[in-house]
Amino acid sequence: MPPVFLPIVTAWTALAVVTGLVLLRTTAPYGRHVRAGWGPTLPHRAGWVVMELVSPAALVLAFDGAGGEAMSGSGLLVLCWLGHYAYRAVVYPMRARWGRRRMPVLVAASAVAFNAVNGTLNGLALAWMPPGTETLAIGLVVWAAGLAINVHADGILLGLREPGTEDYAIPRGGLYRWISCPNYLGEIIEWTGFAVAAWNPAALSFAVWTVANLLPRALAHHRWYHERFDDYPAHRRALIPGIL
Ligand code: NDP
Repeated sequence: MPPVFLPIVTAWTALAVVTGLVLLRTTAPYGRHVRAGWGPTLPHRAGWVVMELVSPAALVLAFDGAGGEAMSGSGLLVLCWLGHYAYRAVVYPMRARWGRRRMPVLVAASAVAFNAVNGTLNGLALAWMPPGTETLAIGLVVWAAGLAINVHADGILLGLREPGTEDYAIPRGGLYRWISCPNYLGEIIEWTGFAVAAWNPAALSFAVWTVANLLPRALAHHRWYHERFDDYPAHRRALIPGIL
């Protein structure tokens, strides 16, 4: 591993913290928060698929290019990554009812850049820093639990909308009984589990980035639900049951 790798990952993680602070003030303009003034737009589905495919491609190229061993703990984590992104980049957009929704090119371009760097750093780290057996086992259990929560919560949201519409409804059932954004909570648990499993700084950095992106967005969604629906359940929190 070249000595410059750790400083680069540290700087990348610091950027996540700064980004999280910015996103607390300015909600990323896609989905329900899309608004004018962010430049040219493209169809949401096309943007989504392209930006999410970059991550597994970058990870595999970096892992392979750095001589990563496929039949190893690292190889297993590469498979987990590919499994997540097969869902996120292919299955999820096929199920989503986005109608004619568009997203700013700027959002898609930032996500492409993020996924390229994040996938590359994680591919290199998995090749250069194989995980230990204990953290791998514990982390994989947490990762799988997070993925299950995320997919289940996504499924409830995707079932709310009538085909051909862009309407919103109050989600109910599952963890929606207690929080507005269990899909984000699941995603955060997932990448925290991955960081424990991989036990390297790049995986930790992705967990920090996930919190930086999704905590502010959960707070924004929660505020939006209260503004939009008079009968929004008052006891529901944004992201962490009973706490936040
Ligand atoms: P949202 O919760 O904003 O939306 C998820 C989907 O459900 C969208 O298709 C949305 O439509 C639809 N939807 C949401 N709420 C409702 C509702 N109340 N009624 C009807 N339809 C609804 O999630 P995101 O788009 O922000 O993210 C999608 C997935 O990607 C999540 O699982 C998230 O965890 C993951 N993600 C991960 C990130 C990371 O850093 N690891 C970063 C960003 C996302 P519409 O788009 O039209 O609003």
